[in-house]
Amino acid sequence: MRPRQVAVVSSTVIVAVINCGSSSIKADVVETRDGNRLARLRVGRLGTDEARARLDDEPPISLGNLSVSDALAQLLPQLFSRADGIEGIGHRVVHGGERFVAPTLIDDEVAAAVAGLASLAPLHNPANHAGIVACRKLMPNLPQVAVFDTAFHATLPARARTYALPPELASKTGVRRYGFHGTSHAWVSARAAEYLQAPLQELRIVTCHLGNGASVAAVEYGRSVETSMGMTPLEGLVMGTRVGDIDPGVLLHLMREEGLDVDALDTLLNRNSGLAGLSGVGSDVRDIQERAAEGDDRCRLALRVFCHRIRKYIGAYAAVMGGVDAIVFTAGVGENSAEVRHMVAQRLDFLGARLDEDANRDAKVTRTSPVAEISTPRSRCRLLVVATDESRAIAEQTAAVVRGAHHVERERTIPIAVSARHIHLTPASVEALFGKGHKLTPLKELSQPGQFACEETLTVVGPKRRIENVRVLGPVRGKNQIEISRTDEFHLGVDAPVRRSGDVANSPGVTLEGPPER
Ligand code: AMP
Repeated sequence: MRPRQVAVVSSTVIVAVINCGSSSIKADVVETRDGNRLARLRVGRLGTDEARARLDDEPPISLGNLSVSDALAQLLPQLFSRADGIEGIGHRVVHGGERFVAPTLIDDEVAAAVAGLASLAPLHNPANHAGIVACRKLMPNLPQVAVFDTAFHATLPARARTYALPPELASKTGVRRYGFHGTSHAWVSARAAEYLQAPLQELRIVTCHLGNGASVAAVEYGRSVETSMGMTPLEGLVMGTRVGDIDPGVLLHLMREEGLDVDALDTLLNRNSGLAGLSGVGSDVRDIQERAAEGDDRCRLALRVFCHRIRKYIGAYAAVMGGVDAIVFTAGVGENSAEVRHMVAQRLDFLGARLDEDANRDAKVTRTSPVAEISTPRSRCRLLVVATDESRAIAEQTAAVVRGAHHVERERTIPIAVSARHIHLTPASVEALFGKGHKLTPLKELSQPGQFACEETLTVVGPKRRIENVRVLGPVRGKNQIEISRTDEFHLGVDAPVRRSGDVANSPGVTLEGPPER
């Protein structure tokens, strides 16, 4: 049998990263070690007579009315001729559904599965699939990898990913929350941890990806535990043209009162709402800010609704994680708009987050200098602007798959210890439960050096039920701590956090019962 490999990609790999939309193509040839771009292609307005392509910084060329496949057939050879040694192609794929939770090498079956997910992402997956098909035809000898926007959020717990619908209907139709922008949320949270010089698995970070599409994620100890987009990228924040959160009753009302059908609602909610709908001057935050400064009431309200929603999510995610160590702003608006960051960061003092107005105004991030701190030195919760780099992230993940290292990367970042339910006690608690002067009696050594299971057991009493004969582990510790399974948690009726052993801050309490006094 072939052993599992621990390959770490250290040498540089050159990867072409392709992001095909319904009317656009973005492609970068990226060197993974330092994120250098060796070549670049941008195509816009595909499917119209105004389609244009731009290679590197050259003047744009008109394409005529071409499909995604035809445009790629015409332009990809030119892009590839500008960089030697391309080892693989990474495709950004928006929806990975239930199945794809990690970057995946593409074969016929995977390509078909990406197309099969079109019902969950009708605007995106067909275009992603067209790009995959065209590239496989053009470059049949290069390995191609699908990197999914949903994958980072595969760790959402059931309580966060479940809509309150009858479960039979939800599972039959794949209706649940998936989350998007995962590549960006993962990338910026990792950069934030590097900047803060703390392990990602010890931080609770709220990442705000504020671009044309916008979403917030709660990244707890390196894992996404909540995010604002749902089954589709329509839920959550106010976006460039998307409505974000709305009472579903509004849709019923509009269908009944205005006679809107599915297509009309789709257009309204995806294209004619959000900042563009509110402001009446389009979706670009720069224009809206300019008009708002001139006194335009619609633009002022648009910015307020946009920022209020972001702040609301930050507060909610602080509650979800039981606190927040850093808030990250990224993407076009998050990286560039000091005004939006200023509006969002108002009244976050209760989280210990204090904005340094000067630092905020001066913040400038680039790919080579990707982090700027905008909180005051006394701010307990750090406020950071971080440049996202989805192309580089996709290139790195593609390189890891091409070189066979992927699972290792994921495993390395999230250490998990699995153990049976057990209790750690302080010396005072040992005496309170077993009698004055009592010392724990070692029964069996554990694999962790110096740790042992004890003869002593206790009963754990929760609000709902009790669990008897729970083993005490020695030696004594500085804090009382109980480690239990998810099933135990339901049985007892407590909502326990997933944490590193020893981190007991803000955990729910239970009662311990010792043996009867003799
Ligand atoms: P993205 O989707 O990340 O490329 O972000 C695109 C959006 O970023 C644009 O629609 C603009 O609204 C916004 N943006 C870019 N530069 C600025 C800026 N200097 N100030 C405010 N918003 C900006």
